Amino acid sequence: MTPKPITSPSNQIIKDIKALEMRKRRKETNLFLVEGLRSVIEGVELGSTLKYIAYHTNIKDKDELKRCVSYCNDCGGYALEVNDLVLEKLSRKDNPQSVIGVFTQTFHKLENIDKNDTGRNYITLEKIRDPGNLGTIIRTIDAIGAHGVILIDQCCDPYSVETVRATMGSIFSVPIFQTTLDEFKIWSKDWQGDVIGTTLQSSVDFREITPKKPLLLMMGNEQAGLSEDLRQLATYCIRLPMNGRADSLNLSVATGICLYALLEPWK
Ligand code: SAM
Repeated sequence: MTPKPITSPSNQIIKDIKALEMRKRRKETNLFLVEGLRSVIEGVELGSTLKYIAYHTNIKDKDELKRCVSYCNDCGGYALEVNDLVLEKLSRKDNPQSVIGVFTQTFHKLENIDKNDTGRNYITLEKIRDPGNLGTIIRTIDAIGAHGVILIDQCCDPYSVETVRATMGSIFSVPIFQTTLDEFKIWSKDWQGDVIGTTLQSSVDFREITPKKPLLLMMGNEQAGLSEDLRQLATYCIRLPMNGRADSLNLSVATGICLYALLEPWK
């Protein structure tokens, strides 16, 4: 027998899913929310564990929905048919989605990175605060084909709704590492390629260098920039020229420029 659609936003499962908007709850459950069929499909195709899928029957792509529902069942999860009212509660107000997925979070371990593999490049972010920046950077890392993001010290949550939304599905394909400054200092000691810092004060123009791979690119905090500790670890630091009156670039824009300049084959 097909279960009845959930029509009340105060249903306990819906409340539990909604609570994943809170960092505390995400931490306790190790789950996170994904909005929209396209992003849910990314998670399914990359084999992430799908705990819940909530969907409206008005969805156009019924075959894709069926595939996701069947995958959710295979994961031992629950597929929930819901109405507009419930979706409005679970989804963003300005662009409500017909499908919401709840997946398990994945964090990777630094010791599993091969520091000698010249084909694998990583980006470190120090105390990044803005979820939109983090999501945009994860999406850019995916786009260029780099291999992971290393979050140093207290950063915003990579699995927050805002970050996941900004990744546009890339949250599933970019491995995420979390570490402290002290751990990172020890771990990065025998990195085989260049460790490149980014600072406004550097005398090295980003166009002047050809990095030795594998690359470890270090980006600083939105307000404070790259700390002295991380600058000390760098093979060298690079600067993107600031020719107008703006004193710096937005962090995600700077990361995108550095990645394409340093990793694309025309270098
Ligand atoms: N007031 C900060 C400072 O003095 O570094 C500005 C931080 S900036 C908004 C955030 C990060 O973006 C920097 O730490 C650096 O990684 C990168 N960034 C921004 N503009 C840059 C530039 N022109 N050259 C190199 N890195 C830049």
